[in-house]
Amino acid sequence: MAPSQENRAFATTRFVLVEPSHPGNVGAAARALKTMGFSQLVVVAPKIAFVTREPEAIAMASGADDVLAAAHVVETLADALSGVHWSIALTARTREYGPPQMPPRAAVAKAREMTQSSGDSGTLALVFGNERVGLSNADVERCSALAHIPANPAYSSLNLAQAVQVLAYELRLTLLAETEPQATSSSEHASASNDEIEGMYAHLEQALVALDFLDPANPKKLMSRLRRLFSRSGLEHEEVNILRGIAKHVLMRVKRN
Ligand code: SAH
Repeated sequence: MAPSQENRAFATTRFVLVEPSHPGNVGAAARALKTMGFSQLVVVAPKIAFVTREPEAIAMASGADDVLAAAHVVETLADALSGVHWSIALTARTREYGPPQMPPRAAVAKAREMTQSSGDSGTLALVFGNERVGLSNADVERCSALAHIPANPAYSSLNLAQAVQVLAYELRLTLLAETEPQATSSSEHASASNDEIEGMYAHLEQALVALDFLDPANPKKLMSRLRRLFSRSGLEHEEVNILRGIAKHVLMRVKRN
């Protein structure tokens, strides 16, 4: 079954690129979003005005040209964050100032906590910097949290679109885990109750005695061992019925002989 994308955050989360220089990166970011089920791309003051229509951007977007074409181009980060409830600034370097820095998984978990508590309309934004200079301190300070992908300390700067991909993937995993169906409670796989299991042990014991496999005068540890075996298996209702059926037929056969 395809994973559920019912979570509204797939449709509302904004991926914001601040002043990107290379059209190819904007296209590749659109592709990264779409592969992870997202669609909101916002570009702040790109170096090339109509960057989303550049052939290189379209080529790198590949089948995500719809996400690229629908991208919003705005003038400032403030515009991009209008209506947003929680924003994460992505930075390749550690910062002296600004909000506390977290790895992406923790940052995404915190963001979900914060946007869900602001009602189901809480919009999240992930903010990425320019290829050469990254995000300015002013941009970072405008965001609610700071995240850093714990890359090779000697070479920690990822390509812009690849950083987008990592965050889109982490957010996807978090959102899918939130909507995962709970363990099935259908009667077919319902686990057996304690009473059912005790009834089964009594029945099984009678059958083993009837077979002369178990000597009631010298039972040793047989029933304890069987209890240990079955307790490891997580017995289901239907399985207990099968074991009781076997015990019943053993008893019928022994009686007949
Ligand atoms: N030379 C720039 C790096 C820019 S890379 C600098 O030192 O900031 C372009 C963007 O990709 C960054 O602004 C950031 O948003 C993202 N990025 C790249 N590597 C990252 C990392 N290790 N952790 C988090 N974001 C990263």
